[in-house]
Amino acid sequence: MPRKAKTKTVGKKTAKKKASTKKKTEKKIEEPKAEKKSRIRTPQLLRGMKDILPGEQKYWNYIKSKAEGLAWGYGYKRIDTPVLEETDLFIRTIGKQTDIVEKEMFSFTDQGGDNVTLRPEMTAPIARAYIEHGMINLPQPVKLYYEGPMFRYDRPQAGRLRQFHQVGFEVLGDSRPVVDSQLIILAYNFCRELGLKVNIQINSIGDVESREEYKEELVNYYRSRRSELCEDCKKRLNKNPLRLLDCKEESCKEVREEAPQIVDWLDEESKDHFVKVLEYLDEVEVPYILNPYLVRGLDYYNRTTFEIWPVEEGEGEVVRQSALGGGGRYDGLVQSLGGQDTPACGFALGIERLILKLKDLEVEVPEQEKPEVFLAQLGEAAKRKALALFEDLRRENIRVAEGLAKDSLRAQLDTANKMGANYTLILGQQEVQDGTIIIRDMGGGIQEVVDYKKVMEELKKRLYE
Ligand code: AMP
Repeated sequence: MPRKAKTKTVGKKTAKKKASTKKKTEKKIEEPKAEKKSRIRTPQLLRGMKDILPGEQKYWNYIKSKAEGLAWGYGYKRIDTPVLEETDLFIRTIGKQTDIVEKEMFSFTDQGGDNVTLRPEMTAPIARAYIEHGMINLPQPVKLYYEGPMFRYDRPQAGRLRQFHQVGFEVLGDSRPVVDSQLIILAYNFCRELGLKVNIQINSIGDVESREEYKEELVNYYRSRRSELCEDCKKRLNKNPLRLLDCKEESCKEVREEAPQIVDWLDEESKDHFVKVLEYLDEVEVPYILNPYLVRGLDYYNRTTFEIWPVEEGEGEVVRQSALGGGGRYDGLVQSLGGQDTPACGFALGIERLILKLKDLEVEVPEQEKPEVFLAQLGEAAKRKALALFEDLRRENIRVAEGLAKDSLRAQLDTANKMGANYTLILGQQEVQDGTIIIRDMGGGIQEVVDYKKVMEELKKRLYE
């Protein structure tokens, strides 16, 4: 017996040992699994890209609804084009020697072997759409507005993103200076009505021929002072001489002081056009600053160029930051893409830059619409009834929010308060049994028990009478 017992014990031990070995083995198998789990890498937001979270949306709605309102007021129709276009569209219009085309395009070859690019701007796609859809046959001018994401592979910093958003207005099919002026007025009003103080900077870069003559003169001048230029400007001398005027380096700015000014090289028609644009602006008292160095970098511009800058008034001094937007005339663009001769003009504002400025100035932006009614419930039976009542209220176009995912009444009342609801409807077990419902006035905290069947009527009386 004892031997048996001993054997038994040994057997138990062995079993235990076995079990513990098994455990150990299991553990061994589990360990790498657990380690693997903790090593799962969460994909990160790409550099220069941003999520627009719910808390930010009020700024976006504010700007988009302003765009919509002004578009209606000034007679513009909305256009949306794809974010992806043939790469060639941008190379041919923006220009090979520009920063955008040289360094900043998100371009790739797709599965079918086509060279495609995420749009860095919207003017060229709009010109393409104008031709492709035969908009020349519509009554001219065709006035279009847009809003959407653009992509430029730039060095990210405050106010400079790789995916950013623009809202823009374009007028195609009219060469009159009044078109340029009204676009500038629209850009100015857009910013003013958002609550921003802005300056319009304006210039004329003439037509292609006069600009070529000017470029030659400019290059001659800058060559004579080549040693004073930064390395980038030395390159610009051969590639894109107009951009010499844009350089932010102090030494280059000094050289610019004595550079020939493009206004002195304008052809008669461009000069006339420019004077008229300014006269129209004077007529409506939109202030502007003449900036002889404002050339804008893209190849397609001619005649009027302008930018919208934020103004901060401090001790009479105008402090400038970065441009909120810009635009100009592009009379040759449609034709350069194979369309008919279609003079045009437009501008774009950067939405992120507008938002930065709105925040900076603490401009009050309308909150998202508050619910008129919050529907609270307590207990399973009440939850069911509330689910159906919510649908009835929604169908009646009452702005209603609910706390169906919560079981505590206090938590639901807190939410109703935070959301700023005017009334809270409370359905508890008692009310379900009695066929009643409580209407709580969130302002005064007064509660009334009403007949469930009359809830809609009672609510509307309180909300709308
Ligand atoms: P542009 O066509 O380059 O003159 O751009 C017009 C406006 O778009 C600028 O004034 C900015 O407000 C905005 N913008 C341009 N590039 C960027 C960017 N990389 N990030 C954010 N906003 C931009």
